[in-house]
Amino acid sequence: MSVQIPVAKPLLDEREVEAARRVILSGWVTQGPEVAAFEREFANFVAAPHACAVSNCTTALHLALKAVGVGPGDEVITVSHSFIATANAIRYCGAVPVFIDIEPDGYNIDPDLIGAAITRSTRAILCVHQLGMPCDLARVMEVAGINGLPVIEDAACAIGSEILHDENWEKIGKPRGDIACFSFHPRKVVTTGDGGMLTTADPEYDRKFRLWRQHSMSVSDTVRHGSREVTFESYPELGYNYRMTDVQAAIGREQLSRLPEIIERRRHLASIYAERLSNIPGLEPPVEPHWARSNWQSYCVRLPETADQRKVMQALLDRGISTRRGVMNIHLERAYADPASFRRTSALKHSVAAQNEAIILPLYAQMTEDELGRVVDALEDIMVHHPAMAD
Ligand SMILES: *Cc1c(COP(=O)(O)O)cnc(C)c1O
Repeated sequence: MSVQIPVAKPLLDEREVEAARRVILSGWVTQGPEVAAFEREFANFVAAPHACAVSNCTTALHLALKAVGVGPGDEVITVSHSFIATANAIRYCGAVPVFIDIEPDGYNIDPDLIGAAITRSTRAILCVHQLGMPCDLARVMEVAGINGLPVIEDAACAIGSEILHDENWEKIGKPRGDIACFSFHPRKVVTTGDGGMLTTADPEYDRKFRLWRQHSMSVSDTVRHGSREVTFESYPELGYNYRMTDVQAAIGREQLSRLPEIIERRRHLASIYAERLSNIPGLEPPVEPHWARSNWQSYCVRLPETADQRKVMQALLDRGISTRRGVMNIHLERAYADPASFRRTSALKHSVAAQNEAIILPLYAQMTEDELGRVVDALEDIMVHHPAMAD
């Protein structure tokens, strides 16, 4: 029996170990100079005027929503077809997520459905670049502009993904929406263990993020530490402890320096998948619009409606291949059983179908072409011969 192929695997080695070691021995381990350097390098990478590091993407989303003024009783238009944190962050503000469907042939928000979901209570649009594939931000921005609504991008999965803008490829996080939020969880393309980043062009938003992430303390501990005069801090408003540590940031800086190489490798593997999977009848590989370049955070394929998703996944697992089902639907979870916890504008049939018919195949930078071949061969064998397909 050959070794198990995982669905994802972070790329970490002695470089990250050395970075963490350097910080630990420096004696300054929480948010400090490494966080500041990571923010500068990240801002530079995506070409954003401001980047603010936080503890994870969920806290980033919370601060972003709060910054654009989302509060109790407000509505925020988003998708149910996402990780649960997308909608949870809206509820942290006391607001109501309004779920609209995804596009029939992809996994992202359908911009045509936004207009009809807008009410007097709508305060913002929270779009998601799902699985690293850019959503149609230009069209989201168009509807938002007409209605005077701010746009927050949940770019948790989309570090290094690109959108064509006026014939130039731009990284997600270069401000087009008002604020973009990123994740450094190990399931994403680069990791700091846990971690998040907010990018924006608005200095006032950035100032708020920096205040709120550190208990709204008027003087940061780096400033107080370096001061020659006794300083007393104050707390002008409610804040949070949403800091990233310097240990995480030092790891993040190493990860960021590897990112171009990681993305190149992922794109190469994805192109081999696309070519080889196109020979399997009934299987739909993901579609990349001409104006988008995915980082392929996840490689998601659609099985025929008649296939038994769970049995296909089990048959793959029996052959040593881990997969995950398509992206969840938030509105179907127990945490959203209370009808007052959300609103939706339709049955969300494309979102539900994507959850039940898609599977995520293994993809990671260290994956060999042999391993990829094993995945394709196993999937082909199952699609052609396995009883899971006959249901
Ligand atoms: C992973 C993820 C999040 C949450 O990120 P954390 O850093 O784990 O908080 C939010 N939204 C989406 C779409 C995600 O995939």
